[in-house]
Amino acid sequence: MVLPWVILIHATAAAGLLLYPLPGWRILLGALALAWMGGLGTTVCYHRALAHRALRLNPLTGAVLTFFAIFNGSGSPTTWVASHRIHHAYADTAQDVSSPAWHGFWWAHLRWLWQSEPPSIERVCPDLNRPAYGVWRFLQPPILIMSYFGGLYFGAAAFFWLGAIRLVFALHAQCFVNSVCHSEPGVPRGQDSSRNVTWLGFMHLFQGENWHRNHHARPALARLGQGWCQPDVGYAVICILERIGLVSDVRHQVRPSGDRSGPDLPLKRFSSFPARG
Ligand SMILES: [Zn+2]
Ligand SMILES: [Zn+2]
Repeated sequence: MVLPWVILIHATAAAGLLLYPLPGWRILLGALALAWMGGLGTTVCYHRALAHRALRLNPLTGAVLTFFAIFNGSGSPTTWVASHRIHHAYADTAQDVSSPAWHGFWWAHLRWLWQSEPPSIERVCPDLNRPAYGVWRFLQPPILIMSYFGGLYFGAAAFFWLGAIRLVFALHAQCFVNSVCHSEPGVPRGQDSSRNVTWLGFMHLFQGENWHRNHHARPALARLGQGWCQPDVGYAVICILERIGLVSDVRHQVRPSGDRSGPDLPLKRFSSFPARG
């Protein structure tokens, strides 16, 4: 269903931009707020907490963030985490399903989403192979219907901007991490192609995912931006949530052992897991 969904939101977004190019500041702020919450759901919950175990989320906080991640079109937590762990395990090799160097820009940006083999949750995410996570796969369709149609309540312009236009914006913001953030010029195929892309920070509302080279260098860390000139709102939110007790076990620093991927990243358990770097 991914391809029909991608076509639907793009066609609706194009119609919305033609019919309502200036929706008004209230609708625009509403769309940005939903995109911001969805982005937090993806970077804090899916990416840093579930995929890399860089922090532990209070169950209710995790559920709220998961809801907004799905609402923003990021898919279910198990599918997202499985795809992402495989990306790290095989990054910049031919098995890296979203590698632009091996498969081309548009494959890495979008096509792999519906043309590649779905990952095995049992093999890649045994830690998430539980009803508490699996249930979101069944909740995803109604949440997406709500996400697409919900703006109708506020009128026609809100239907397009809170729904399809926001969803297209959020989709490409995420897809650029796979395509543009792995297109370092001059790097031979098979070498580490990850890079920090400053302009992508605007699309990610400065939540940190654009500092992708930092992340590949230290995947186990909760922090993606380094220093004041690399804003990382996702990490700032994690620190605030830690202060008020909604997250714990935050990995702020590299462990003295100097681990690169985190000792509890489940893919490490597989003998077929290729050594890298
Ligand atoms: Zn990457
Ligand atoms: Zn990662």
